[in-house]
Amino acid sequence: MDQRDKLYIDGRWVTPAGKALIDVINPATEEVIGRIPEGTADDARAAVAAARRAFDAWAATPPAERAGYLQKIHDGLKARADEIAHTITGEMGMPLKLSQRIQAGSPIATFGMYARLAAEFPFEERVGHSLVVREPAGVVAAITPWNYPLHQIAAKVAAALAAGCTVVLKPSEVAPLNAFILAEVIDAAGLPAGVFNLVTGYGPVVGEALVAHPEVDMVSFTGSTRAGKRVSELAAQTVKRVALELGGKSASVILDDADFATAVKSTVSNCYLNSGQTCTAHTRLLVPAARYEEAARLAVEAARAYRLGDPFDAATTLGPLASDMQRSRVRDYIRTGFQEGAELLWGGAEAPEGLAKGYYVRPTVFGRVRPDSTIAQEEIFGPVLSILTYQDEDDAVRLANDTIYGLAGAVWSGSEERALRVARRLRTGQVDINGGVFNLHAPFGGYKQSGNGRELGRYGLEEFLEYKSLQFKPAKSS
Ligand code: NAD
Repeated sequence: MDQRDKLYIDGRWVTPAGKALIDVINPATEEVIGRIPEGTADDARAAVAAARRAFDAWAATPPAERAGYLQKIHDGLKARADEIAHTITGEMGMPLKLSQRIQAGSPIATFGMYARLAAEFPFEERVGHSLVVREPAGVVAAITPWNYPLHQIAAKVAAALAAGCTVVLKPSEVAPLNAFILAEVIDAAGLPAGVFNLVTGYGPVVGEALVAHPEVDMVSFTGSTRAGKRVSELAAQTVKRVALELGGKSASVILDDADFATAVKSTVSNCYLNSGQTCTAHTRLLVPAARYEEAARLAVEAARAYRLGDPFDAATTLGPLASDMQRSRVRDYIRTGFQEGAELLWGGAEAPEGLAKGYYVRPTVFGRVRPDSTIAQEEIFGPVLSILTYQDEDDAVRLANDTIYGLAGAVWSGSEERALRVARRLRTGQVDINGGVFNLHAPFGGYKQSGNGRELGRYGLEEFLEYKSLQFKPAKSS
């Protein structure tokens, strides 16, 4: 049992204002594996005050020195990589092998990247008779979800610290234990008091207290579109800068000259990664109407190869969903898909056989999904693929763009030039061409209701910077 009863505020582990604790549940066993403080608005205020006090000195710390701290945090996380992977698999259910690579590997790489970027980034430039300086935005509230918990934390915290901001982190209450490891690593790295603070608790309490606080300059939020809208509304009262990373309903567009076997298999794999709990998941497979039968057969072939089970078992390729609530939501969507007339090709809403415990959902494939149906429009956040058909390239583009979201997507074609042409027409923040892979240095973020702002790479650092123009009197021309 990982029992945590303190919050990290002003460089110390402190007793929270209230006594209540939140249970952390292992979604594969349904057992309580940890407890964390249910923080209050008072805790949030104490953390903001600490971050405010620390801001001036941290902002004035030379970037190369800030880089040194980030490198120490990177090293500290790396030394605990295995523990991080086990912790995250325990609290949210991703198969351990994948957790080692993604849930632990990615945040470690992100801290390393921002250590380098902080040292190299040009914080000043001359523009005519002005010196344009880029200064930290101020005190940042970072609010994060449970699906890639430490990755999402790192994308905010490492970039904000590199920029010279101070941070109050409110991690997801569903998968919060990893955030305590980060706070321990930061403490051991000797970061000045108040530069990083951790307050756990529920969104409407701690999250809203941070977002509404007049001393918070910027909110960086990742989570649902519903909560993102609420965050924007509250933040508007004090005209805060807000960066949102929200949901998605991304399309994988397979053009008629693509290698179908590879494209369909990769799309299923992308859709089912982390049991479908990935904001960039390619959940809509768009295929030419004339090739539907072939695509459907290939998708079922790929889906049936998945092995559900204990995420700590090396043979498992699909873990449970992160929570009971998430499982019910996904099963409801599967029922809706069926009721709205889609063809259920594989899986379904019933509990999978042989798994008496755990929040498991069958890997599911729907065919001939109507573009206006619920499962084609709404983010399901579970292992559910919808196959839609299109008539020609223009129709494929129109369908791909036909949701309120615009986070990610894919295009597959025998011709890279053709794939690029189609990719340019997609109103979405990222497009993988013929199996292109995630790049930590490229901007990550959404169009439309998938959010605003960009994370990762130098683009993520720039999010946490303000511009200041210092004008000089132009020299008199003789
Ligand atoms: P959520 O939006 O409820 O929670 C995300 C974070 O925001 C958590 O830390 C939560 O405590 C906090 N929060 C919730 N309400 C808040 C409020 N009113 N003010 C301030 N903070 C608040 O999302 P979730 O419960 O983690 O997941 C629910 C859905 O969100 C998923 O089913 C999925 O559709 C979506 N989601 C998207 C992403 C993404 O990266 N785009 C990630 C996780 C979840």
